[in-house]
Amino acid sequence: MTKTLSVSAIKNGTVIDHIPAAQALKILKLLQIGTHKNCVTLGLNLVSKSLGLKDLIKIENRILTDTEANEVTVFAPKATINIIENFDIVKKITTRFPDSIVGVFTCANPVCITQTEAIKTHFYLEEYGKQIKLTCRYCEEQFDRDHLVALSAAL
Ligand SMILES: [Zn+2]
Repeated sequence: MTKTLSVSAIKNGTVIDHIPAAQALKILKLLQIGTHKNCVTLGLNLVSKSLGLKDLIKIENRILTDTEANEVTVFAPKATINIIENFDIVKKITTRFPDSIVGVFTCANPVCITQTEAIKTHFYLEEYGKQIKLTCRYCEEQFDRDHLVALSAAL
């Protein structure tokens, strides 16, 4: 990888930077990129002074809501999320680690009521140092964030 290799600028949209390496694909799933059909530029394993290696996501013509930006911190606690308009940064979103997350992850418990009923999943989040645990509101099982997968489509 050379210094001149960079990810091209976007005109309008959202840039998520300082994602720990290997987390970008999880964030894409979490943001349901496949459903939204936006043009997405992905940088994987880029060299970062603060993180060693990092991932980067640029999403054209989509502005993340504050809730979505907070959800990103489940996989990227120190992410920088900037809103771009006409190639300029017009807003830097200040993220906050969310207390709970609704309708994003599938519960990994096969007998959880959310597997069979049309209700949105709901997890309470807790941070233990670098570990992030999610507890299902319905079956009360606790999972490591890496054991949960995002829903493939919104309910
Ligand atoms: Zn559950």
